[in-house]
Amino acid sequence: MNIYYHPNYNISLGVLNYLHPFDGLKFKKVVKAIGDLPSVNIVEPLKPISSEQILVSASGLMKRALNGNKRVILQALEIPYIPLLPFSVIDKRILLPMRWGSGGTLKASIDALENNSICWNLSGGYHHASQHSAQGFCIYNDIGITYEELINQGRISSSDKILIIDIDAHHGNGNARWFCENKQVTLLDIYNDDIYPKTFSSKQRVDISVPLKNGTGGVEYLNSLKLALAKLKTDFKLAFVVAGTDVLSTDPLGGLKLTIEESVKRDQLVFDFLKQANISSVFVGGGGYSKDSSKAIIESIKNLSQSA
Ligand SMILES: [Zn+2]
Repeated sequence: MNIYYHPNYNISLGVLNYLHPFDGLKFKKVVKAIGDLPSVNIVEPLKPISSEQILVSASGLMKRALNGNKRVILQALEIPYIPLLPFSVIDKRILLPMRWGSGGTLKASIDALENNSICWNLSGGYHHASQHSAQGFCIYNDIGITYEELINQGRISSSDKILIIDIDAHHGNGNARWFCENKQVTLLDIYNDDIYPKTFSSKQRVDISVPLKNGTGGVEYLNSLKLALAKLKTDFKLAFVVAGTDVLSTDPLGGLKLTIEESVKRDQLVFDFLKQANISSVFVGGGGYSKDSSKAIIESIKNLSQSA
């Protein structure tokens, strides 16, 4: 199984790491644990996504934010405003790693389409960002940007059916907003309905919606996911899976109660559906804020790579 990773994915702000619970070094930990497995092939994207690729779809407000509005960017990163922190440092230490991660989503998607395979980009899955807004630790919507770039490169057409399965604990409001008008893109989203984001209109866009209560455990989660997957058609050219590990009971933000084993099982259910339907697919990172996040990713890749 191809796993997409680049050393530049890792986010390190030194002491400022403590300002947000996201473990910016987890990509490195995962690769250390799985890199030597015979069933795993680590692939490095060649470059981050470019300003042109980012800005082509951005609204006027987003263009201004992305071009150096420190206040807007720090707010989206959920980091307090720090007057003496130059934008160039934020760009180099946080935004550039995110652009590399988004470049990984693009490269993984190109390869998945060419090989008709299922692969995993360790970063990406910035499902709260859209053309109009950066929020929830998401600046670039890597799936939306990848979609536009694949069309520009002639690898898919606007009439191809695309699937996004969002199994992160949070609702993917950015993806819903990005593809608000595009009904060729089907959204399945299973999420904790009691936490951020509380955006009614984006939830309305989701085709197969599974809102869960705070504290939902693994048995109910997996049963609900199975029922949702059974509603999907299979005629998709490409699928993205936002595989955030903030569904774990140890996660401080997700509010759900899955064990690592149940999180592995969750990914297996989605993988089995995609494999049986023969859909070229890319798993992307998404959220995951507990110390167990990297463990859950490692166990899942070990498990899936056996059957990829
Ligand atoms: Zn999340």
